[in-house]
Amino acid sequence: MTYVVTDACIRCKYMDCVEVCPVDCFYEGDNMLVINPSECIDCGVCEPECPAEAILPDTESGLEKWLELNATFSAQWPNITRSRGAPADADEHKGEEGKYDKYFSPEPGQGD
Ligand code: SF4
Ligand code: SF4
Repeated sequence: MTYVVTDACIRCKYMDCVEVCPVDCFYEGDNMLVINPSECIDCGVCEPECPAEAILPDTESGLEKWLELNATFSAQWPNITRSRGAPADADEHKGEEGKYDKYFSPEPGQGD
């Protein structure tokens, strides 16, 4: 199993999660982060740290799409281990519905 980042992260990207991951397995896209499923050790410490409740264990149902997205883009985006702080408008997008269709970007983020 692994933990996965869902579309609740899109345009929130608070980055609290990267500070606590013991194996540094977060990767940064333009407007969201993903977890590398083969590096995640399932410790679960990141899940309660996320203000957007974007991180879930893949034992929950209905997460196949997000697991695939995490696996695909963690292989393409740069590693991120230190927070640069949230975007200025992060709170405006917290809890918004349909963020994948509206905003998802396959472009890489800046990384460390
Ligand atoms: S803490 Fe949550 S919203 Fe912030 S970057 Fe991590 S997964 Fe995304
Ligand atoms: S569950 Fe643990 S190892 Fe996996 S991403 Fe979260 S903090 Fe990192």
